[in-house]
Amino acid sequence: MPELPEVEVTKKALSFALRDTSIIGVNVRNKKLRWPIEENKIKNLIHTDIKKIDRRGKYILVHCEEGALILHLGMSGSIGVFDENIKYHKHDHLELILNNKKVIRLNDPRRFGCAVWTDKKPEEHKLIRNLGIEPLEVSDLGERLYSLSRNRNTAVKNYIMNSNIVVGVGNIYASESLFRSGINPIRSSNRISEDRYTRLGVEIKKVLNEAIEMGGTTLRDFTYYNEVRQVGYFKQKLFVYGKSGEDCRKCGQEIRERVIGGRNSFYCSKCQT
Ligand SMILES: [Zn+2]
Repeated sequence: MPELPEVEVTKKALSFALRDTSIIGVNVRNKKLRWPIEENKIKNLIHTDIKKIDRRGKYILVHCEEGALILHLGMSGSIGVFDENIKYHKHDHLELILNNKKVIRLNDPRRFGCAVWTDKKPEEHKLIRNLGIEPLEVSDLGERLYSLSRNRNTAVKNYIMNSNIVVGVGNIYASESLFRSGINPIRSSNRISEDRYTRLGVEIKKVLNEAIEMGGTTLRDFTYYNEVRQVGYFKQKLFVYGKSGEDCRKCGQEIRERVIGGRNSFYCSKCQT
């Protein structure tokens, strides 16, 4: 599943692809994404000025002169830029045709992604407006997580994976940042000190930034390859995620696995308290 780092790199790649060019055509090949693509609205992209492209959580926002396109990659989506004569891949659902003989294609086998047009400011759209803290945009992430946690009695792992609190902390990043900050994932969110949250905030940012840096490699490919330009998924060096039964790299004790909030969670009961 594309996580915040993949979306961030996709956003950068899209910004690059759309620089100094304009969209001259839109081709909806399959409108059945999470919400049906409204072709007549998506056509607002044609010959419009693209003001900026940014990211909010795992949504990519393409701000146009009037309105914006809101993109989400769902469970399996990716965006690629291709020469216009490259054949379609299976599951290419939406294509934006550029005036420089390139096309941008949204591919999504499982079709949980979306391409939604809004006439209003995207920040006010119902998909966006209730999103929580943008972790890489604030310098005091841990302190904020601490203050929001005081009246919330839930496992800290669920708490940091709640996108109304903080966006972009998927299962891998939650498991890894909790390990790195020595916090047991099942510990109640309102029973963790501010100091520990401060550490957790630092580790969440680190683990996301490391993945984005790894994605830099993918971005170079995306930018310079002639054939297929597609942002891949990043494989990060992990301490606990997916490692149940293996020895903890810090203390040697066996990594445990349990289901928390319906998600497989991995931790070291010695290093994480
Ligand atoms: Zn350990």
